[in-house]
Amino acid sequence: MSLSFDPQSLSYPAGHFIGGARVDGPAALEVLAPSDGRVLSGIPVADAGTVDRAVTAAQAALDASGWAGLAPRARLRALHAWADLIDAEAETLARLESVASSRPVSQALAGDVRNTAEQIRFFAEFADKEGGDLVPTSETSMGFIASEPYGVVGAITPWNFPISMAGWKMGPALAAGNAVVLKPSEMTPFSTLYMAELSVRAGLPEGLINIVLGDGPVTGAALVAHPGIGKVSFTGSTRAGAAIMENIARTGIKPMTLELGGKSPQVVFADADLDLAAGCIARGIMANAGQVCVAGSRLIFAREVAEELAGRIAEKMAVTDAGPTWDEASGYSPIISEKQLGRIESIVSAARDLGAELICGGGRMDREGSFYQPTLLAGVDDRSPAVTEEIFGPVLTMQSFDEEEEAVALARHPTYGLCSGLFTRDLSRAMRMIRKLESGTVWVNRYGRSTDHILPTGGWKESGLGKDLGREAYLANRRSKSVLIDL
Ligand code: NAD
Repeated sequence: MSLSFDPQSLSYPAGHFIGGARVDGPAALEVLAPSDGRVLSGIPVADAGTVDRAVTAAQAALDASGWAGLAPRARLRALHAWADLIDAEAETLARLESVASSRPVSQALAGDVRNTAEQIRFFAEFADKEGGDLVPTSETSMGFIASEPYGVVGAITPWNFPISMAGWKMGPALAAGNAVVLKPSEMTPFSTLYMAELSVRAGLPEGLINIVLGDGPVTGAALVAHPGIGKVSFTGSTRAGAAIMENIARTGIKPMTLELGGKSPQVVFADADLDLAAGCIARGIMANAGQVCVAGSRLIFAREVAEELAGRIAEKMAVTDAGPTWDEASGYSPIISEKQLGRIESIVSAARDLGAELICGGGRMDREGSFYQPTLLAGVDDRSPAVTEEIFGPVLTMQSFDEEEEAVALARHPTYGLCSGLFTRDLSRAMRMIRKLESGTVWVNRYGRSTDHILPTGGWKESGLGKDLGREAYLANRRSKSVLIDL
């Protein structure tokens, strides 16, 4: 059966989901389709009262179900049942995911939705395998470190990978014995809502997952500040992350993990397999049309390979499959909004004013929707916003080096440190560079995550605080308690 669909034929879940039931409110925000700008649905904005209702429902669900105290394998089995239902409903989820976001439906199905189900299973496995620690103390006492959930976790997700981000937040929080109140991006709420509905159908306690709809300043701010939230888990821009930190400092200290923006370098040495590097680099900036936190947006290369590398990358940047996200043949993503497309245009134009040379791309695509051409800019000025700012578009800048130390200096961003790509066949050089690159992730001779969910992801510097994925994400959803018993 074809995956392609007509956006008018979908039924959009567009109310809050609290205590296992849909809670409607007056439509205050419009959700648009970036593929052609049409309005898909209106959604309500949860105020502090609605957020309070969701947090209360989450705590009530914890109390009534004993979720945190269940036999660990019972928690594991419940989460597996949810993951199985996500797999069974994958096509519906992929359609709801793709219609409002920039994810082409075939990629959403094969990648985002399947990975999300698998990640929930991955995190469920920690429920009966991670414990506390018995620690050495004097003979007359016994000391151990117990580990307990926080209670209700408040999660906030961005628009660029809605279902994956919801899985990254809810998987470890629930496996660790917490309940969740999650606010998805106001631009892409549908797949997260449907995923929450599936949790109840799969047998998870009603109220264990609650979804509140709304924007950042009203709903997000109320969620973060709510005294019933034990821990905050956020993914989004550095600007919003800073606002959340400030809010938490003002309204009551609580732990937080922040997965924020990036401006990641891809460093190519002359000894690299240039064809492999060119393919990885092109994909690293074209995936989701550059609207990826880890987009490899700064190419830093040995001067002697400049021409050959630029030529190969430009070749691989040719797009033949731009199209509406609801067409299964589409592979290249639209830009999320006309406003964001305008920002990309102005950054590229400022770079050109400062002397950058266009190797390819450089403008919007001649077709319906907010599509921007993959763009390669050579000779960029170091002060150009194209080099310093997270663009969130398919724009790759090129800077060259002669010596290894110069490559290290160019790769170092003053504020961001999310990830780095490195291409070389020289193992010693690779090991030296890995030590010097200032980022939470380094990919060598590849660019992008694998489906081994065990490697944590998270930024250094202003790219974030704490980790998603891996064992670290599970542990971040539990707090330790030191116990000392006199014998
Ligand atoms: P955004 O910061 O504008 O919004 C993210 C979420 O935060 C939304 O749900 C929004 O409503 C909410 N929000 C905004 N202001 C808030 C506030 N003051 N208080 C509480 N909530 C608030 O980001 P976006 O445009 O949706 O997503 C793109 C950004 O996300 C990029 O910077 C990207 O790098 C980052 N991102 C990071 C990762 C990662 O793992 N590091 C992954 C995906 C996206």
